[in-house]
Amino acid sequence: MKPATFDYFAPSTVAEAVDLLQQHGDKAKILAGGQSLVPMMNFRVARPEVLIDINRIKKIAYIREEGDELAIGALTRQRDVELSPLVREKCPILADALSFVGHSPIRTRGTVGGSLVHADPSAEIPTVICCLDARVKVVGPSGERTLQPEEFFLTYLTTSLEPAEILVEVRIPVLPLKAGWSFVELTRRHGDFAIVAAASVLSLKDGGVCSEARIALGGVAPTPIRAREAEEVLAGETITLALMEKAGQKAAEATEAESDYHSSAEYRRDMARVFVRRGLEQAWNRCKGGR
Ligand SMILES: Cc1cc2nc3c(=O)[nH]c(=O)nc-3n(C[C@H](O)[C@H](O)[C@H](O)COP(=O)(O)OP(=O)(O)OC[C@H]3O[C@@H](n4cnc5c(N)ncnc54)[C@H](O)[C@@H]3O)c2cc1C
Repeated sequence: MKPATFDYFAPSTVAEAVDLLQQHGDKAKILAGGQSLVPMMNFRVARPEVLIDINRIKKIAYIREEGDELAIGALTRQRDVELSPLVREKCPILADALSFVGHSPIRTRGTVGGSLVHADPSAEIPTVICCLDARVKVVGPSGERTLQPEEFFLTYLTTSLEPAEILVEVRIPVLPLKAGWSFVELTRRHGDFAIVAAASVLSLKDGGVCSEARIALGGVAPTPIRAREAEEVLAGETITLALMEKAGQKAAEATEAESDYHSSAEYRRDMARVFVRRGLEQAWNRCKGGR
C-alpha cells in the first residue's frame, strides 16, 4: 500500500520545524530517517496530514565529545554512530548495540533521534540510553528541556515529547576508563527487534570489588527498564559467578513481561535472567582486560 496524501515541508532550522509543528498540531509528524514512520504510513497505521522533513537541518547531525559526555545530534545516522572512532573509544557499548539494529541499509538512513522518539521498548538505542543514564534535549515553543530516560519514555511507542517539541540531542556520559560493558540480546534472526536485550556496565575497584553496576533491559516491559535491584546485588561486593546468577534472577523479577506473538511472558522472564547473567560475565571479563 501507499501512504495517504499529506502536505510536505522541509525546514532548514529547528526553529522553523517547531513553528510548523505549532501551526499544524497533532496533524503533523516529523520525518527523520523514515525507517519506522514510512512503513507505518504505508500500512496506514499512521496517517499524518503534514510531514515535516528535518533532513535539511544539518546542525542537528553531529557527534562531539563535550567534557565527560558524548553529545550526539538527533539527526545523526545510526550507522555513523556505529562506525564513529570517538564512540567506539568513549562509549563502545553504544557502537556495539547499534550493530544489532536491523541491517546496515536501515542504519544508514535511520537516526538516533528517530529511534528514541519511536520508543519501541525492544529497540537497542533506548536500552543503552537507559543503562547509561543519558539525557535527551528537546526544543519547543517555550524553549529547551532536558529529560532523563525515565522521564522521556512513558510507555510502548510513547514519550513525554509535547506535540510541538522536537528532539535535538542526546548526551551520553562516557564510560569510565576501566569499566567493563556488554550488550547482548535474544532474537530469532539477526536484525530482528530483541525478544530480550540486556545492557550492562561494571566498574571494579582494585581487588575485584564492584564499585558500580548498571543494568538495563529491553523487550520485557512497556519501556526499557533499569534492573536496580540486580545492580544492588553487585555493588560493593566481590564479583563471582554465583553473584551474577543472583543478579540475573533479581533482574528477571523486575520485568513486566507479557506474552505476545514472539514469546510467552514466562520465557521472556527466564531469558532476562539468562541474558543478564551472560552480559554481566562479558562485562566482568572486559573489566579484567579480557576483551
Ligand atoms: C526492516 C526493519 C528492521 C528494523 N529493525 C530494528 C531493530 O532491530 N532495532 C531497532 O531499534 N530499530 C529497528 N528498526 C527501526 C529503525 O531503527 C528506525 O530507524 C528507527 O526506529 C526510527 O528512526 P528514523 O530516523 O528512521 O525515524 P522516522 O521513522 O523518521 O520517525 C520515527 C518517529 O519518530 C519521530 N521523530 C523522528 N525524529 C524526531 C525528532 N528529532 N524529534 C521529534 N520526533 C522525531 C517521527 O515523527 C516518528 O514518529 C527497523 C526498521 C526496519 C524498516
